[in-house]
Formats: sequence, structure tokens, C-alpha cells
Amino acid sequence: MKLLQCILTENDCYKTNRTIRPKGVMVHSTGANNPNLRRYVQPVASTPGRDELLATLGVNSNANHWNRPGLDVCVHGFVGRLADGTTAAVQTLPWDHRGWHAGTGASGKSANNTHISFEMCEDGLTDPAYFRQAYRTAAELTAMLCAQYGLDPAEDGVVICHQDGYRRGVASNHGDIYNWFPRFGLDMNDFRAEVVRIMSGESEEEDEMVYYKNLTDVPEYYRDAVEKAVDKGALNGTGAGELNLSEDLCRTLTVLDRLGKLD
Ligand SMILES: [Zn+2]
Repeated sequence: MKLLQCILTENDCYKTNRTIRPKGVMVHSTGANNPNLRRYVQPVASTPGRDELLATLGVNSNANHWNRPGLDVCVHGFVGRLADGTTAAVQTLPWDHRGWHAGTGASGKSANNTHISFEMCEDGLTDPAYFRQAYRTAAELTAMLCAQYGLDPAEDGVVICHQDGYRRGVASNHGDIYNWFPRFGLDMNDFRAEVVRIMSGESEEEDEMVYYKNLTDVPEYYRDAVEKAVDKGALNGTGAGELNLSEDLCRTLTVLDRLGKLD
């Protein structure tokens, strides 16, 4: 995981100078189609390494980033794309600063007082390559934070998303990240398990190949091609009606289909 630092010192949240004792990590996703970190994260004149950060993040010329006063939101980090198109994490508040990310839940409590938070920059939510990179980076960042603060990601309520927080009464009613992960067959249980694997050193990036058990698990943009291959008897699966297709194979079939080879 590539981790940069660009503290949002001009955000009103930073200026409150309030700290928390972190008891967990809350994962958010932005709800807007813009995977670029520069949309949200920009240095100001006083930011250490400003020129290098601008070159790495890219320049936001719309003045809508979060390093400015007048916003009622601020998170501890972002996961998204750098100017060169690769995916990275950037720290935007001291990890034990009290963030403004969860709002208040039905219990009257707020995860702002307990959880470190980061936003995953959403794209159009249909690109499996970007999803895999963002998901992996988010899991690595969460693992790093859990290790740093002695948190057990498998423990109830430690690693949660915004919607989990809502259901637990400690956050406002936002759907993130369930608007995104399930499109690729994953949810927060998978995410927590991934964080556990990373912390135990069992997870290597090479093992990240995604498999789809049934045709209904195959994302829509691959499904036509897979269906054609099944119809032609070219794909028989592993018995009991299961296909167990790797994403690589789905992609290959989709390319063949575009070439007209499956018609
Ligand atoms: Zn959120």
C-alpha cells in the first residue's frame, strides 16, 4: 500500500483540536463518481511537501477539495487514484483526531467519538480492476490502523462501514459501502476477514483472484459472454450447478464474445 500524508489543516474539523481514543475503523465511500484523490485532497501553501504532493495527487482546479473552511465533513484518510492512475491511501487527519464523518445515530451516540474514518473514492461502480485495487488498499489501511491501535478487526463493532454504524445506532443513515462492495460479490464480513488475513500475513496480493460460484454471481458486464459459453456447452462448471469461474476467465470470454467467437 502506498500511503501519503496531506493533513487538511484548513478544514474546520482540524481546527477543533479534539482527539479520541480510537476503538475502531469506519469505512465510507463517497457516493460520487470520481475516483481521483485530487477531488478531495489538496495541499495548501503551508503543507509539508506541497509541490511533490500536487504532482503526485494531481491538481484540483475546481476549488471543491476538503482542505478549506466551511465544510461540515472531514475524514482521517482517503483511498483513491493518484495522478498516474495507480491507487493509494492518503492520511488527511491525525489518526486520533476527532473526525466529522458519521453524524449522530438513533442512540444519540456518534462513531465520530470512537472510530478512525476513511473515504473510498467511488468510480462508476462497474470497474472490477479499480474496485479490487481500492478494496485491497482499504483493507491494508485498516489492517495498519488496527495494528497501530491494538484493535481486533474480528471483534464486533471494530471494523464497520457507515451503514453498519447506522444499524448500530452510532451513525446517520447512509448506505455506504453496501452500494458498492456487493456489486462485486463482497460485503463487510469479507472485508473484515481480509483485514484479519492481512494482519496474520496470510494474504498475498497474488491470491486476490475473484471467483464466481454461479451465473447469478457473475457481474452483469461479463454475464452475456458467460451465458453464451454455457449455452454452447463450452462451460460445464464443477458439478451441482456450480460454475466456479475466475474473473480472468470471465474477462477472456468477454473478449472472445466481442470478437464474435461465441455467436
Ligand atoms: Zn459515509
